[in-house]
Amino acid sequence: MISIVIPIYNEELLIEELIKRTFNAVSKFTSEFEIILVDDGSQDNSLVKLIQHNRLEKRIKIVQLSRNYGHQAAYTAGLSIAVGEHIVMMDGDLQDPLELIEEMYNKLKENNTLDIVYAKRKTKKERISRGIMMLIFHKIFKKIIKIESADDVGNFSVFTKEVKDAILLYSEKTRYLPGIRFHIGFSQDFILFDRDERFAGKAKMNVSKLFSLALDAIFSFSNFPIRFMLVLGVFGVTISFLGFLYVFVSKILGIAPFGWSSNLFFLFLFNSLQITFLGILGEYIYRIYKEVQNRPLFIIKNMIR
Ligand code: UDP
Ligand code: MG
Repeated sequence: MISIVIPIYNEELLIEELIKRTFNAVSKFTSEFEIILVDDGSQDNSLVKLIQHNRLEKRIKIVQLSRNYGHQAAYTAGLSIAVGEHIVMMDGDLQDPLELIEEMYNKLKENNTLDIVYAKRKTKKERISRGIMMLIFHKIFKKIIKIESADDVGNFSVFTKEVKDAILLYSEKTRYLPGIRFHIGFSQDFILFDRDERFAGKAKMNVSKLFSLALDAIFSFSNFPIRFMLVLGVFGVTISFLGFLYVFVSKILGIAPFGWSSNLFFLFLFNSLQITFLGILGEYIYRIYKEVQNRPLFIIKNMIR
């Protein structure tokens, strides 16, 4: 059996099409499947539409969260109830071509040493601002996770039940699932594809949500920010020491009182560096705080099977 996990947040415009197409794509190669749609606190008619589909087809299961928790938590909720031998994670906006489910599934089946097959984007149709942001993020993330093919990879993937269980062992509150999926190891491979525009509606991950997801990924998978801060701090101290020598020597040589502008320059530079670094420390403290609070990642209000 295959479980397809799809997060849904205010997608009333495309639920019809999403379910129809997903159903067709999966029915082509198996009849044993469940489609788990996680309603992440939608404020539109998404839930009503989902329930209508559930009434007609019992393989469509609905998980209703108690409010909007964000799509990483919604995926996690879906994974936590999936019972299939194989699991598919897929966004609900039809940006990921559905034929790929079968392709990834076959690749996984053909090679029984494989545990995970993920989809890697060759091209994508995004607005320029989002596109640039994503490009920068993925280049950085690839360096951090130290896996050559880790850029341009999202949630879209097929993996085994064991992988799902491993992912669920990661209980961190600031989650980035593609990162966790790399971090667990197992044997992984990918398929290249062209990413479509979303079928209807606006992106629910706006620039600020994407930015905070990027920060989650970078802060939870590397010590880069804080290491960078240390390196820059040491560099600053070295420079200051040279500066001090310079001041000392020019005092002795009697050529001291000049350099008002350079003074201001360093004042600005080091003050702003300090604030930046306090911000970086703050990010770590925020993350520690989140872990210590240990709030649930999501709360399931209703399960409609
Ligand atoms: N989504 C969600 N909760 C949110 C934001 C998004 O469940 O708070 C869902 C959304 O309905 C979609 C998927 O996550 O099915 C990806 O969202 P979107 O297309 O906006 O993300 P992007 O393509 O920008 O990564
Ligand atoms: Mg999308």
